[in-house]
Amino acid sequence: MKQLQIACGGQTELREELENFKKSCEENGTMSQVMFQIFSEVLEEEVTSQLADAVEKIFPGVPYIGCSTSGNIMDCQVTDEIVVFATCFEKKSTKFMVHQYDFGKESMTAITKRIIAEADSNPWVKAIELYFSIPEGSTTKFCDGLNGLREDIQIFGGVTCSDDITSDDCCVFSSDGGYSTSSVIVAFYGGDDFHVDSIKMTGWKPLGRKFTVTKSNGSLLQELNGIPAYEVYHKYLNINNDENFFYNTLEFPLFYEHNGTTILRVPVASNEDNSITMSSDINIGSTVRLSYGDPKTIFESIETESRRIRDFSPDVLHIFSCAARKTFWSSTEPTYELEPFRNIAPSTGFFSHGEFIRSGKFLNQHNVTLVVAAMREGDAKAPSYDAPAQENNTSVSKVPLVSRFATFISATTIEFEELNSMLEIANKNLEAVAITDGLTGLYNRAEIQKRIEYCLSDVNNADFSLIMLDIDNFKQVNDTYGHQKGDAVLIALSNILKDEQTNSLSNFSSGRWGGEEFMLVLPDTEIAAASFIANLIRKCFEATSVAEIRSQTISLGVTQAKAEDTLDSLCTRVDMALYQAKKTGKNKVTVL
Ligand code: GH3
Ligand code: MG
Ligand code: MG
Repeated sequence: MKQLQIACGGQTELREELENFKKSCEENGTMSQVMFQIFSEVLEEEVTSQLADAVEKIFPGVPYIGCSTSGNIMDCQVTDEIVVFATCFEKKSTKFMVHQYDFGKESMTAITKRIIAEADSNPWVKAIELYFSIPEGSTTKFCDGLNGLREDIQIFGGVTCSDDITSDDCCVFSSDGGYSTSSVIVAFYGGDDFHVDSIKMTGWKPLGRKFTVTKSNGSLLQELNGIPAYEVYHKYLNINNDENFFYNTLEFPLFYEHNGTTILRVPVASNEDNSITMSSDINIGSTVRLSYGDPKTIFESIETESRRIRDFSPDVLHIFSCAARKTFWSSTEPTYELEPFRNIAPSTGFFSHGEFIRSGKFLNQHNVTLVVAAMREGDAKAPSYDAPAQENNTSVSKVPLVSRFATFISATTIEFEELNSMLEIANKNLEAVAITDGLTGLYNRAEIQKRIEYCLSDVNNADFSLIMLDIDNFKQVNDTYGHQKGDAVLIALSNILKDEQTNSLSNFSSGRWGGEEFMLVLPDTEIAAASFIANLIRKCFEATSVAEIRSQTISLGVTQAKAEDTLDSLCTRVDMALYQAKKTGKNKVTVL
């Protein structure tokens, strides 16, 4: 794979370069294996058409793909000149094709289906490159739609933009569909000798506490933890809701996990209602944190990742870097972080509004991210591309204090969050203790009364019943075997009441009413069913033996609530039912 790079000052220059290149292609017989990329910061159709026309005239029928950008990348350096790259595939087995799909003419779903069908009918496809232009900036549906692609196909690319980073204006153009402001260009690459690897890098680190997205609509982020999203930026970073909002927040994007990978989203504008327009969607329910870019850690993470690309030994690199990163590194050294890639292989690319990369099955659109796709024909070889020696820039050592403060804040936040969750657990335990009887683990009397009152007030729960039960001759148990054994009998009875199988019959609540008396609240249970359950419990207890004690019995009273009942009248009636069971022989169920 070979690459010709033309930074064109003018039309004549471009034509000359293309003519020369054509001659060499004709000599080598490689005309049919050439493909062009064209990047332009200027998005006017007259400008991009002139370039496309020049390519088409000199290389008729040869595929080209192009887009407007927020800065063009040539050999890891930024240029605002229009650039034309020709890639010449040297292996006969390598295949490529270009398609352009118009969002104005077809739905996203229809387009993603067609892309999948295209890849399915061309089993040689190993990689898909995307140049995406859409005025609304929401790509989620598109990404989700492509998750159905064969899992071994790598996907990478960029959302296009223009030199005005705050504007949505952008265009794409290709040999397949011409100029468009609402299309996606899809380049398919593959073949037996074609190899590809793609990686993403951010280097941004989460900072401070977590927030939950409680209200959002597409890329409009309305609320975090129930408060307007802007207020988070104001409270934690003292950023005002004014015309500088975009530049002030650029270094502090939101960081969150999605589809098993980390994603960054940049606030693009703050609105009057204190909502924030983001660079793309964030779903409700996402847990997000502010994040910050620390030059030192960014650079370190890029050095590590670039080793993987170096080991791959690519012939060419396609680079998609967020325009926000360019701004972050400032105009004096906008491609500082690309240096580690510079001597690996010739590179083309652009600064984008969003970066695509597939992680496993899922295609995601990122922001503030650097995506690098490495391509090679044939086996890996030792890197041979000679690029200018890397300058050792020491400016990164200026900022350790910022980094240290950020680490400090993150560490204290984690401590705080841990403390908070311990408090939450402690509170839950306290709540549980407050409603539980200590000996039996059943609800206490106050909680059972509350539940009866709730059933009485719940109009949807008209048919509920109570069972009151009392151990027969329990005094004798204590007198004969001792108080401790008595306690064991109480626990054995409670275990029967807690038994899941018995409980599943009506999902009742059981509580200790006092001493050896228990009360059961049975929601949505009519008297006949309640009486059946009461008998079941009675038989079960009778058949249960507690160590060294002969089996005991219980008496039970059952009643169903009436519309006019109060807590008092209902409890008195069930108590009377129990009294009658005792009076008429014990070890029985009486219904009133
Ligand atoms: P009946 O069949 O009429 O209910 O007779 P009984 O002996 O069960 O009734 P009584 O009310 O005379 O006695 C209840 C006994 O329950 C008295 C008390 O010592 C015992 N008791 C109450 N609470 C506990 C407890 O927490 N543990 C133990 N071991 N005994 C308890
Ligand atoms: Mg008793
Ligand atoms: Mg009693």
